[in-house]
Amino acid sequence: MVERQLHGREIADERVLSAMAQVPREEFVPDEHRRHAYRDGALRIGEGQTISQPWIVAKMAELLELGGGERVLEVGTGSGYAAAVLSLLAAEVVTVERHAALAESARERLARLGHANVDVRHGDGSQGVPDRAPFDAISVTATASGEPPRALRDQASPGAPMALPLQRGGREMLVRIRGTAVEAVTPVRFVPLVEGTKG
Ligand code: SAH
Repeated sequence: MVERQLHGREIADERVLSAMAQVPREEFVPDEHRRHAYRDGALRIGEGQTISQPWIVAKMAELLELGGGERVLEVGTGSGYAAAVLSLLAAEVVTVERHAALAESARERLARLGHANVDVRHGDGSQGVPDRAPFDAISVTATASGEPPRALRDQASPGAPMALPLQRGGREMLVRIRGTAVEAVTPVRFVPLVEGTKG
């Protein structure tokens, strides 16, 4: 997967490639999909949600330019896969999931796999996590319409990068925002960022 899907497709950050090689993706997909765990696409994980394509997880991690000392906020824990990758690249990861059942199973899985520096929260990630702010980098894995949620911008340290999919003019784009700079990276498809919590 690392050679064919990532290295060969412009993922250059060696720390990201190494983290992607270390996290066992099959542990994050439902049993019936285990044999497809390394395929080049997203997979269903229950509750109508998905685990992102490996390339997207790697790309988003790379966009955050992590050096190892950061506190990272992830919105949209899902399976916990991207949080596991980020946990190998930063000092701490705080990840928020609106579905209680997904948050619970991600918490159990990350603990079992030894990712002790990940704090899984059940809540509405569009509100951020004020009691752990500020964050040195933010990754959002559900699509917001137009602008990133205000609370997330407020909880970013000065100059902290935020990678997120935005719906703009009928198109869904992965963008990186840093201060007032906005870079469009690649067209993507994520589930929508929904306000409020479930379960
Ligand atoms: N990063 C995940 C993939 C996430 S899919 C992985 O590696 O597996 C997007 C997730 O965002 C879904 O689980 C969905 O329930 C969640 N989500 C959507 N809106 C949210 C919100 N406002 N707060 C927290 N989580 C949200």
